[in-house]
Amino acid sequence: MADFCAECAPLIWGEGVEPDIDIDGIFEDLQPDTGLSVICEGCGLVTVGKTNNGEMKLAVLTNNKLNWMSFEDFQSIKRINI
Ligand SMILES: [Zn+2]
Repeated sequence: MADFCAECAPLIWGEGVEPDIDIDGIFEDLQPDTGLSVICEGCGLVTVGKTNNGEMKLAVLTNNKLNWMSFEDFQSIKRINI
């Protein structure tokens, strides 16, 4: 079964359905300077990370390129696979 992140899940299933990839929950559980690998089939999100000063950084795979971005930038990316 495909997994979808908290930004893509509402587009697939509508509001009120738990996303497979709870970005905020994952981020809360991370220690500084670590990340967790995930795979969102909707947008290409592959890693939720926390910097050593507690900022969220998200890695998105687009056209075989890995792009690290803030949550704000992540929210604005085009979700091409949906
Ligand atoms: Zn996604």
